This record gives sequence, structure tokens and C-alpha cells, in this order.
Amino acid sequence: MPDLPAPPPAAIEIVALTKRYAPGTPAAVDAIDLRIAAGSYCCLLGPSGCGKSTTLRMIAGHERATSGDILQGHRNITDLPAAERGTAMMFQSFALFPHLSALDNVAFSLKMKGVAKAERHRRAQDLLDRVAMGHLAARRPGELSGGQQQRVALARALITQPKVLLLDEPLSALDPFLRIQMRAELRRWQKELGLTFVHVTHSQEEAMALADTMVVMNHGLIEQVGSPHGVYNHPASEFVARFMGGHNVLFTPAGPIAVRNDHMRIAPADASSPGLPATVTDVEYQGTYVLLGLQLAEAPPGKAGVSVQLPEAAFDARPYAVGEAVHLGWADAHARPLGPGAVRPGEGPAAAAPPAADPALAPDATALPAVAF
Ligand code: ADP
Repeated sequence: MPDLPAPPPAAIEIVALTKRYAPGTPAAVDAIDLRIAAGSYCCLLGPSGCGKSTTLRMIAGHERATSGDILQGHRNITDLPAAERGTAMMFQSFALFPHLSALDNVAFSLKMKGVAKAERHRRAQDLLDRVAMGHLAARRPGELSGGQQQRVALARALITQPKVLLLDEPLSALDPFLRIQMRAELRRWQKELGLTFVHVTHSQEEAMALADTMVVMNHGLIEQVGSPHGVYNHPASEFVARFMGGHNVLFTPAGPIAVRNDHMRIAPADASSPGLPATVTDVEYQGTYVLLGLQLAEAPPGKAGVSVQLPEAAFDARPYAVGEAVHLGWADAHARPLGPGAVRPGEGPAAAAPPAADPALAPDATALPAVAF
């Protein structure tokens, strides 16, 4: 039998990693397992408080793990000091020293290690050249644009020659325009340098734009791991579908499903259009598309809100108004069955299952005639 090709080596492998800040409190990170491929861009994504930063800080060595292991290549780095891990951290809003030049900011950690001035300046200048900032080495952060500051921060993180760069919400302090520019740069640098980046963000849009691998977390657990395309098009649970946005969660007799709001069909509520009855509650013009907010006539408590995204031309051809009664449907091929999501050991799937489906909500999905889109 031919040998199977060895899987690509993981830059970081996390095994049953747990962090409990105080005895008797719920774990901030609860026995998670994760492999981060070498040379990949990995985003840890989830709402505030789900354990992303704690996970990153444990990888960095800034937070002690309560139990479990962190491996880098063949080394177990769980209890190593931060400086011996081969990782470097880039913080929110770059955290550059305002009174130091770009060159001295980049050279700072070498100074702390006792490297002689000429040598540390040579290495810092090399790195600044590499991120196209060599000509501005003498400037202080206040004399640089946000984008230039990000490059200095990147050079400063790279001076210790890390294998893995850890980024904790590095773009969250920037204005929206700069944030989009800077994320494109981060992605470009990651590919050019061939390093592994692990980037924490609460923005699904940022994670989708950057990640090779997205890790969606909730309550200290991992809900789903996959490519942005895979996670967006096949959300594993109600939590992921709602958190990623752009999906409706619908409760059918066969169980809960997710349908993208641009895959929904909508028709005026007359006798010839079967489907789920709903009422339009909101009409938002968004340029290339119109977003309709609706309330289903029947749904589990608190779950009646849905949305439909119509291309501008389709809306113009048949506009809908607030208060209008409609029928909603979808093609079977666009329905994604949802699982119960991540559950803690000892908590059965029943505990995390969504409310039982109501047979009255059975959508006659395929029977709904396609509306002109
Ligand atoms: P995220 O980065 O996803 O916003 P965190 O990892 O910062 O989440 O926090 C996860 C959980 O751990 C939260 O409930 C938070 O309140 C708690 N937590 C974080 N840091 C500390 C700390 N130093 N001491 C006690 N609890 C903490």
C-alpha cells in the first residue's frame, strides 16, 4: 500500500486547552482542540467574552493554561516563558512608543536583550526596508499615518524572528476606511513573509476577508472551524448562522435550517403563492440591493424575525412596502440543516437543541414558484 502523504505540519496545535480564571467559575476556554496549519492565516472569531483573547494569550505565554497543551511543531510550549516560544504579539492600535523613532520602536526588544546599538539598528533598518518604511525610520509614530504605523508595528513584532505572529484585534481602533486598507496589507504581508498569523477579531467581515481558516468560538468552546466560504455556506449551528449574519434560521419539521437571505424567495401573499406567511416590517435601500425585514406569522418565541435580500432591479420590478403580507420560500438546495452546536462534556445535545419544530411551520418550500429575481 502506498504511504499516505503526511499532513502539513501544524504551526500550533492546541489539545484540550482550558483556562479557568478562578476555581468554581465557568471556564473562559473549555478543553478546546485546534490545529493551525503552518503558513496559514487563522482568525479566532466570536462575540465579546467568548474566550478568543484568552486563547491567544495562552499561545503567547501571557496567560497560564489551567490544563491542556500547546504544541509548536514537536515542542510542547505550554509552560515556556513568552520569549522562548517563537511567537510575537501585535496589539490593538499597534501600541507603539510615541517618544521613540520608528527605528528605535522596532529595535526596542533587541535593546532589552542587550544587543549592541549598531547591530540592533542594522537589523531594525533591514526590517523597516522590508515593509517599505526604511525612508521614514527617523520619524516618531505621531508623524506617521495609520498605515505606516501598522507597518512599523509589524516590523517591531518581526524583529524577534517569530514563526507565529499573534494579533489581538489589531485593526479595531482604526476608522472603517483605514481598517479595510490595513487588512489588505496584513494579508499581503502574511503571504509574502510565509509566516503563520493568528488574528483575534469579533468582526465576521474582517475574519472572512483575512482568514484561510476561521475558528468560530462561543462561551469558551469552538463552534466551527473551516474556510470562510465553508463556514458561511455551511454554518454548523444556529449560533454560527446567526453570528455570521446574512442567514435566516427557520424551524422545519425536519429540524432547524439556515437559508441565506439572498437565497430566499418572496412573493405577494395571494392564493397562488404558497410558502411561509410573513409581514414586511422594514425596507432598507442599500445601493446594489434592498434588504427587507420581515416577521413570520408563526415561529418559536423570539425567532420570528427574518430578512430577504433582493437585488435592486428585482425590488424595482416588484417593490414591497412596510405592512405588506407576503409568502416566503426557498429551494431545497439552499437549505442547510443545523446541528446543536458545541456542547460541554456532560451536557447532552438535548440541552443545547433548538426549540422543537412546529409542524404548522412546515414550509412548502419547493412549491413556491420562483419569483423573478
Ligand atoms: P474575548 O477575547 O472573546 O472577548 P476573553 O478571552 O477576553 O474573551 O474573555 C473570556 C472570559 O474570561 C470572559 O468571561 C471574561 O470576562 C473572562 N476574563 C478574561 N480575562 C480575565 C481575567 N484576567 N480575570 C478574570 N476573568 C477574565
